[in-house]
Amino acid sequence: MTSVVDLADTEHRFRRKGHDLRVRVLELNGDDERGHLLLFGAVADECLVRVHSRCLYGEALRSEDCDCGPELDKALDLIQAAGSGVLVYLEQEGRGAGLIAKAMGYRESERSGADTFTSYERLGYPADARTYSATARALAGLGLRSVQLLTNNPAKVEALRQGGLRVTAVPLRTRALSERAREYLEAKRTRRKHWIPTDSAPWAVEEPAGAAGADEPLAVDPVVITPGDTGRGRPGSASAADLIGA
Ligand SMILES: [Zn+2]
Repeated sequence: MTSVVDLADTEHRFRRKGHDLRVRVLELNGDDERGHLLLFGAVADECLVRVHSRCLYGEALRSEDCDCGPELDKALDLIQAAGSGVLVYLEQEGRGAGLIAKAMGYRESERSGADTFTSYERLGYPADARTYSATARALAGLGLRSVQLLTNNPAKVEALRQGGLRVTAVPLRTRALSERAREYLEAKRTRRKHWIPTDSAPWAVEEPAGAAGADEPLAVDPVVITPGDTGRGRPGSASAADLIGA
């Protein structure tokens, strides 16, 4: 699944926003799940992990139509502030359907006013084709048993839990860069049950305790962390200013 190159042979200095961290790089080569793991600093249990899918528009081109760029930035800010963590960067453009599907989805949404998930389905694509099972195996393969996952996406939490990891979800708060981006966030919340922290609903977790099964613990134990501080707080105990990105 991973490259045969010795991990230690990839270690180098990574400088960003005035912070220096050592980073090592591991290739991920799952069937439908390719990408890389970037291991920042001394990776250990409970470290911060971001599982991120490529978005050319939002990251490299700085499009204001989605929150992918700000989410990636925020995740890296937090990993750097913590001094360690893992970025799993997956080549799953367009929620796994590719850039052409994404472009057609945007066009369909412009034409019909439908949200992006509905547009994908009308075009014959799955609303979200991404998988995270190889990612979970790779993280476990690093010796990790528990992680703090920087995400608003319950599917990622569940996939890593299915892979045997203990997962604490850390919602990522970003500011919508445009009305379209705000609508996309809202679609992710209503269609895919993402937890989107907002001023009025900082902990909009929609999965009630026990929903996944009577004897199964709640998949998510949201915590509050701020850059430079990995201290925990329960939902409801935090002010908006405590939230990430507030
Ligand atoms: Zn994007």
